[in-house]
Amino acid sequence: MNIDPLHIGKVILAGAGPGDPELITLKTLRWLQQADVVVVDRLVSPEIVAAHTRPDALIIPVGKQCGKEESIPQSTISELLVAHALEGRIVVRLKGGDVSIFSNVLDELEALTQNGIPYEIVPGVTAALGAAAYAGIPLTARGYSTAVRFLTGCRPGVEVSWWRDLAQTEDTLVFYMSSAPLDQLVNRLVEEGIAADRWIAVIEQATTPVQRVHSWPVREYLASAEGSRYASPTLIIIGRVAALHSSFQWLANSRSKELYFPSITKNIAVC
Ligand code: SAH
Repeated sequence: MNIDPLHIGKVILAGAGPGDPELITLKTLRWLQQADVVVVDRLVSPEIVAAHTRPDALIIPVGKQCGKEESIPQSTISELLVAHALEGRIVVRLKGGDVSIFSNVLDELEALTQNGIPYEIVPGVTAALGAAAYAGIPLTARGYSTAVRFLTGCRPGVEVSWWRDLAQTEDTLVFYMSSAPLDQLVNRLVEEGIAADRWIAVIEQATTPVQRVHSWPVREYLASAEGSRYASPTLIIIGRVAALHSSFQWLANSRSKELYFPSITKNIAVC
């Protein structure tokens, strides 16, 4: 294919924040307003797309959902970015939260560099920071914790030493993509000796109008919350700081169990 470098477009890899449509950066907003094409993740506030894209922009939802076959393959998403940029378009690849945290940005960066496509990366508020703020949990509160780790419990085959270290650390642990195996996760930490008075907070649909937070000391979780199911997406915070939620909660739990983010529908048109 002959590529005319003068007519090549650009891809903006941008974070949309965790849910609240006001948690977007001015830079992402400005790129969205200019975009010819917006390739959007599932965990992006639909209000952002509705309010800040051009009426003639092509919006392409490419949501992924754990365990659903309908997810669009990553290679197709990367190809879409390249194809539209080669046509001279400004393409915003809008991801939930931050671009670099638990996302497939590496595949997209490789596709862009291999094809000589110019790009920019614009950070976003990652779910850990959004959820912590909206649940009133200071992640490294003085006297409670001096470090925070972003993790996922979905790591089949990891070493026992990994779990032991997590069970025994004073660091705050933030688990992404871990609500389905939460019981398993807590039981694993208990086996490795986590203190029974360490706290667990579960934040469902953080920063959205339907946010709900639940928190317990480990020992109480095992007695009363085991087997519970949570609305997607959910973030788990484990550590002494999670106890601070009850003192500094500033947002009431929603009574609604509605889902804020659209769920995946089959056969989304991608072109
Ligand atoms: N890049 C995203 C993370 C993508 S992985 C970011 O920086 O936030 C998807 C996981 O993020 C979900 O399974 C969930 O654990 C977490 N997540 C994303 N948005 C969330 C929200 N509004 N509330 C709670 N958890 C959220």
